[in-house]
Amino acid sequence: LGLGEQELALRERAGRVIPGGMYGHMSVSSFSTAHPQFVVSGEGARVWDADGREYLDLMCSWGPMIIGHRHPAVTAAIVDQLGRGDCLDGMTPTAVEYAELLVDTVAAADWALFCKNGTDAMTTCVTTARAATGRRKVLVARGAYHGAVPGFAVRGEGVTAEDQAHLVRYEYNDLASAQAAADEAGSDLAAILVTPFRHDIKRDQEMVDPEFARGLRALADRTGAVLVLDDVRATHRLDLAGSWEPLGVRPDLSAWSKPLANGQPLGAVTGVDALRGAVGRIYVTGSFWTGAVPLAAGLATLTELRRGEALPTMERAGSRLRAGLAAQAAAHGCTIRQTGPVQMPMLSFADDPDFRVVTAWAEAAVQRGVYLHPWHNWFLSSAHTDEVIDAILERTDGAFAVVAGR
Ligand code: PMP
Repeated sequence: LGLGEQELALRERAGRVIPGGMYGHMSVSSFSTAHPQFVVSGEGARVWDADGREYLDLMCSWGPMIIGHRHPAVTAAIVDQLGRGDCLDGMTPTAVEYAELLVDTVAAADWALFCKNGTDAMTTCVTTARAATGRRKVLVARGAYHGAVPGFAVRGEGVTAEDQAHLVRYEYNDLASAQAAADEAGSDLAAILVTPFRHDIKRDQEMVDPEFARGLRALADRTGAVLVLDDVRATHRLDLAGSWEPLGVRPDLSAWSKPLANGQPLGAVTGVDALRGAVGRIYVTGSFWTGAVPLAAGLATLTELRRGEALPTMERAGSRLRAGLAAQAAAHGCTIRQTGPVQMPMLSFADDPDFRVVTAWAEAAVQRGVYLHPWHNWFLSSAHTDEVIDAILERTDGAFAVVAGR
């Protein structure tokens, strides 16, 4: 199956007026020759491209869709709020109701601040930590992604050393390296940033060692630094109370985004009482941060998640998918690794250092109607029923056959 006619025509037009035809994480040219660049609609666990081809969606728009595309409760909240306005001269009462619900849901939250995306949320966390401590240095795990701004960027031209002058790197899951980084920062250490598990691109995912998580908490306490959990990627999928709540490790600040509002642009920072003063003193804002439609969608999404069925559904779907893929790989004689939480799966092949095999597999999967990524983790939603997973597995079997025959 080659690319469709509409897809090819759109690519040609986009090449003339959009940088590179597409930029950033959704630029298919960076990961596939077979994925459609253009997607025109979605419903539940399915999306359709410009040529009307259907895909079972394992990316969920790279995370945002947690209860499925066009979830009726979220759509109703959006339509209802649109009837009154979106970008108004102040916050809507919905924002207060939503903040109350988020604070009630997240264990380490005494307050919530809303913004637009994960980068805003992480930037706000760092600024708050610096304001609270009067210090500058920030510990960041090597390879971790915290947003596409020069202060965090992990790659790319146009970023200067000065942009990251106050970042000190440590190795994820290596407490001694975090301690060494803290020693290097000395009395200037403001914050320790960490993701709930290791989900850097182009490497197998790695669950957090609970001892490491507890050790970082203790390190922050010893040094007076602010512990910032970057929960942007995992937001709500692992545990509504926060991704480290099952470990009993509470951050001082948490950054949220991706699926907060099931696809509407929304980010949030939550924090503990001790940082209420600092976050109140810093100046952070944006023209669209108080947009009423995304906040209404966020409230509807969290309300739906708190009904309690979505997370177990995702976990069951993820386990079913993992078991099915493992069986298929074995039947085709392929050695694969499946890493990370089952709700945010990642698959890689043995002896595939340059991702050629997994890319061929992903391309074969998309040609069979499963939208997934070769070297970025995937995401499940509560629209991924057993039937959807079984339909996905029917299609991925052929993809294993393609790479097994190479
Ligand atoms: N932190 C993490 C862990 C992320 O995965 C991302 C987005 N991939 C960000 C921050 C930045 O979020 P956004 O793209 O919404 O600005």
